[in-house]
Amino acid sequence: MNIPHEKAVSHPGVSLWVNGAAVPSTSPRSGAVTNPATGNVIRRVPFANAEDIDFAVRAASAALPGWRSSPPLRRARVMQKFLALMQANQKELARLASEEHGKTLPDALGSVQRGIEVIEFACGIPHLLKGEYTENAGSGVDCHTLRQPVGVCAGITPFNFPAMVPLWMFPVAIACGNTFILKPSEKVPSTSMKMAELFKEAGLPDGVFNVVHGDKEAVDAILNHPGIHAVSFVGSTPIAKYVYETCARNGKRVQALGGAKNHAVVLPDADLEFTTDALIGAAYGSAGERCMAISAVVAVGASGDPLVRLLKDKAGKVKVGPGNGEGVEMGPLVTAAHRDKVAGYIDAGVAEGAKLVLDGRNKKIAGHENGFFLGTTLFDQVKPEMKIYKDEIFGPVLVVLRADTLDAAIELVNANPYGNGTAIFTNSGGAARRFEEEIQVGMVGVNVPIPVPVAFYSFGGWKGSLFGDLHMHGMEGVKFYTRTKVVTTRWPHEDAPAPGLNMPTLG
Ligand code: NAD
Repeated sequence: MNIPHEKAVSHPGVSLWVNGAAVPSTSPRSGAVTNPATGNVIRRVPFANAEDIDFAVRAASAALPGWRSSPPLRRARVMQKFLALMQANQKELARLASEEHGKTLPDALGSVQRGIEVIEFACGIPHLLKGEYTENAGSGVDCHTLRQPVGVCAGITPFNFPAMVPLWMFPVAIACGNTFILKPSEKVPSTSMKMAELFKEAGLPDGVFNVVHGDKEAVDAILNHPGIHAVSFVGSTPIAKYVYETCARNGKRVQALGGAKNHAVVLPDADLEFTTDALIGAAYGSAGERCMAISAVVAVGASGDPLVRLLKDKAGKVKVGPGNGEGVEMGPLVTAAHRDKVAGYIDAGVAEGAKLVLDGRNKKIAGHENGFFLGTTLFDQVKPEMKIYKDEIFGPVLVVLRADTLDAAIELVNANPYGNGTAIFTNSGGAARRFEEEIQVGMVGVNVPIPVPVAFYSFGGWKGSLFGDLHMHGMEGVKFYTRTKVVTTRWPHEDAPAPGLNMPTLG
């Protein structure tokens, strides 16, 4: 297909990926991509404009008829080749994610693996797309359902999982027969470009998967383009709400996942050594820049004082440094601005009267003086009205609140406007069961601090953590990326009664 795309302005570094090839943007705007461990600008990324988005939509629309009508088994075979290529390139994808995001290499490898598992799920698409059939729904009348692709779909993703969050979306969408336009975070553009190259190498027809880069201008062009039929978004709550409302107004199918404040409730009967180890990983892994990070601990009854002592001890020993450093457990924050924002929250916590048990401000890493580092930070005696509890900080700051009873802890969690993930630590099956039943949160862990569902279940929160009805991947993903059609069939023959004027009833 030859789509005219003149007026191109080239940017050093990253390109757009449209119609199976790297192409320049027509926009004069671009942004810097930094290595957070050094503070150096490592490449520039174009900020696509409405013309670029239209270019991608035309490519995706042109590829749609051929792709949607190809047998699901053929689509699954492309997916299997993509799976093998992703596995072979897992280290390189993790290296790119770590370089642009700052997270440690082992953590990046794990997150790429969790994304690859969605491709494994999508390989089963011939089975997943099977419809229902009823013989003799009425006399001589049969009924069946079809699951058909929605059309051209778009995904808009955050900086914190450069591979995994896009992989929650596009393998399922494409396996279902849709074509796709991905707009990854402008802070971490390179992993998506690598995945686009690998997908082409797997045999994906040109135009089925496209990548555009940019900021609000690109996002608005996606949300308002009449040629895009469904939008999946993951990011902060205010933008999720904006994306949801704009798409709804424009008649698009939309799922928009937002931010979080994930609580761990610790009961006095919990194994505190085990619990603390779990909480340290969940609070400080990826420098707290995970939507499922535990950022608030609710210590019930007598668990509080010993838990805070253990947390302080173990958090103080977390090795901070560049993501590719030997033995490093926690990397820098994504940008200088974000590091400063998180440090500002620590200032606010002190000013509000919370007890600062461990202070990560002024963390310096030898040889990486310009990196965006903060140390592990712990607050105790935090109250629900404090800003450090109310806001999503998205950094290595863990706050501990106290509650007298499990009832009070459940009430506190349920009063929070977010509802992404939560966990309970206890040895009591009865308490865990009550928590599971009463808690108003989408993903729940019992002695599991980050209960991210495996690919064949679905990922999604409640309340301010998700706008829309359907979660991502698993069967909810298949439902989001397909429309059902019900077909009622009768074949005339001599015994069949003629259709009349009355409302037909079956039976
Ligand atoms: P963000 O909301 O700033 O950005 C997300 C996407 O929206 C990016 O692609 C960005 O370019 C775009 N965007 C930013 N500002 C915009 C605007 N004004 N108008 C239109 N588009 C805009 O989020 P982030 O900082 O990249 O990621 C961190 C946030 O994502 C956190 O709140 C985190 O909890 C959330 N998150 C949620 C989940 C989940 O599953 N619920 C998963 C990962 C991250």
